[in-house]
Amino acid sequence: MPKKTQCPEFPYFGAIYPDACCIDGYLWDLDSCDSPGSNLLTSGGDDPCPFCNYDEAIARCADALWDDGEWTRKSADKEARRRIRAFQAKHR
Ligand SMILES: [Zn+2]
Repeated sequence: MPKKTQCPEFPYFGAIYPDACCIDGYLWDLDSCDSPGSNLLTSGGDDPCPFCNYDEAIARCADALWDDGEWTRKSADKEARRRIRAFQAKHR
């Protein structure tokens, strides 16, 4: 049974309020709850949590930057680390 972690909740899925929560290292959309009061979330689970799933979040971010074509593999890794750290600092 997946459990919510102690990671902070933060805006992620397009809302200006915290709409993401971390379950077992992946982010779920708090707004995807199908009925009020239930904690069954129906959308999410694909994106690694930048707090407890740090390495995977960096790898995913670096891949996305590299795919853009504007970064070398090395600079994409460096930039990904910088972005995830900045994200953590902002939402901790
Ligand atoms: Zn987490």
